[in-house]
Amino acid sequence: MDAVQKWANERRIADLIKVLEERQFGAVMAKDKDDARKIVMDMIPEGSTIAVGGSVTLNETGILDEIRSDKYKFIDRYNTPNFEAMLEKYREGYHADVFVSSTNAVTMGGQLVNIDCTGNRTSQIVFGPKKVIIVAGVNKIVENVEEGIKRAKSIAPMNARRITHKTPCAADDNIKCNDCRCDARICNVTSIVDGCHYFPKRITIVMVPEVLGY
Ligand code: SF4
Repeated sequence: MDAVQKWANERRIADLIKVLEERQFGAVMAKDKDDARKIVMDMIPEGSTIAVGGSVTLNETGILDEIRSDKYKFIDRYNTPNFEAMLEKYREGYHADVFVSSTNAVTMGGQLVNIDCTGNRTSQIVFGPKKVIIVAGVNKIVENVEEGIKRAKSIAPMNARRITHKTPCAADDNIKCNDCRCDARICNVTSIVDGCHYFPKRITIVMVPEVLGY
């Protein structure tokens, strides 16, 4: 990455971190995606049960591979024989020691904005797992909640295509949301986390001055 762009990204993240800390989130800036992986794994004690939210970022940083190591008890939502078994894994996730995910958006006002299909990711960020770690590239930063929702909706077609949901926005000749009402709709639940005041630092946000995920 261009050094000037990296500097600009770091300055923006530094401002964001101050705001997140005021809202009682844990917040840290990684140097790059490898550093982010190290920061995240250092935060998770060996033997922890870990659940994850669906995330391109966790793949790109190599965090998902690390979570799969024998050191942890991974509640593996990906290797299930059928939909019901996958839902059981989602339910187990509410009792995890740690939930690791990215976010659709983080606002400069210090809010997390997410839109989900089933709601497992949105809800487990909100309550359930004892600790939540969010990893986000600089591309996830927006000014406010309205922009955050707009961002989440703008990347929903890519996510729908990634998880092979047959939504109109993921069709070969489309990429726009038309507020579908099909069974495969992935935009059923929206969550806004406005602060961590009741459970200080339950959620830690690891910000990376690089583009990660959608
Ligand atoms: S509401 Fe439907 S069409 Fe719009 S982004 Fe979500 S899944 Fe796609």
